[in-house]
Amino acid sequence: MAAGDLYKVLGVSKGATREEIRRAYRRLARKYHPDANPNDKGAEERFKEIQHAYEVLSNTEKRREYDEGPRSFFGQSPQGTQGTRAAQGNFRDFNDLFGSFGDVFGAAQGGVRGRPQAVRGDDVTVTVNLKFKEALEGATTRVSAPVEEGCEECRGTGAAPGTAPRPCPECAGRGVRSRDQGFFALSEPCGRCEGEGTVVEKPCPRCAGAGRLQKNTQVTVRIPAGAKSGTRVRLAGRGSAGKKGGPPGDLYVTTRVEEHPVFERHGDDFVVEAPVSFVEAALGAEIEVPRPSGGTVRLKLPAGTQDGKRFRVRGAGAPKIGSSKSRGGEPGDLVVRARVVVPKTLTRREKEILEALADERDEDVREQLLRLSREAEEAL
Ligand SMILES: [Zn+2]
Ligand SMILES: [Zn+2]
Repeated sequence: MAAGDLYKVLGVSKGATREEIRRAYRRLARKYHPDANPNDKGAEERFKEIQHAYEVLSNTEKRREYDEGPRSFFGQSPQGTQGTRAAQGNFRDFNDLFGSFGDVFGAAQGGVRGRPQAVRGDDVTVTVNLKFKEALEGATTRVSAPVEEGCEECRGTGAAPGTAPRPCPECAGRGVRSRDQGFFALSEPCGRCEGEGTVVEKPCPRCAGAGRLQKNTQVTVRIPAGAKSGTRVRLAGRGSAGKKGGPPGDLYVTTRVEEHPVFERHGDDFVVEAPVSFVEAALGAEIEVPRPSGGTVRLKLPAGTQDGKRFRVRGAGAPKIGSSKSRGGEPGDLVVRARVVVPKTLTRREKEILEALADERDEDVREQLLRLSREAEEAL
């Protein structure tokens, strides 16, 4: 890997102008940015290398030091006097030795740079319970969200009013400490200030030095028509406040919809089971079934309807979320599942009628079943 050659990392020549370096960096950083390559270790490593190369090559002073040879760049001389080529050989050895050049080097660089980076605030998720009808029609509701906000008392510094955070005495405000490995210095975050570079002597009484407070904020949220359990509504920027000037996180409102006694949600469809008498099933009938939005809908069953047969009532299901954009987006359906009901008791006359029916039909409904199993047996 060409990690040792920062020019190669950015794909520019040794004589590249600052503008060329900047352009190369922006193009590569966009391509390998972790947000654009989730869970891609290789891209992440590459991104670190690119960042590091840019940090060095975009800075006139550091670039000159780098061009002169990595020894001076480490700020420590390996034993003996070596030429630039030999030193670059060592450079690669460090890399092999520690696996990731970017990590060792990048940490040292970050340390010198010192200032902790702006951090985006956390995303916050809350659940809202909805009645069946609210979910179907959409609703505007208020939720209480536990978000972190900057402490007003200390304006986020964590220091008691009248005092201010001081540079950390342990690391002289750099946020990192160098451990001397004899050979070269290895940097690690300062334990005293946890990499912040500052320490608070007298903590703010309001936030106990955290600089942040947990608060329950009331948020009004619009739940779209057709929401179901697990639908997430995102409120950009309404999550926890960012740190060090970073942007706030997002608030996610997840819906939980009360179960309905007869309608079962399947995607954008609702399923309802409709009992059908065996006479209706045999002769065919027009039946009335309830509809999710209220009232009923009439449905024609053909003669000979079998148990479990499904019928669709188009458009009687839930509005498709997001269909409001393209108005007229088709809602789901109501699926009616016929359940044939057999009488549990019969009067003497009913019994006579059914016996007459049996005589009339004189059928053997299990004829095929028995024939198939007999054939299978014989084939063995
Ligand atoms: Zn420190
Ligand atoms: Zn405070």
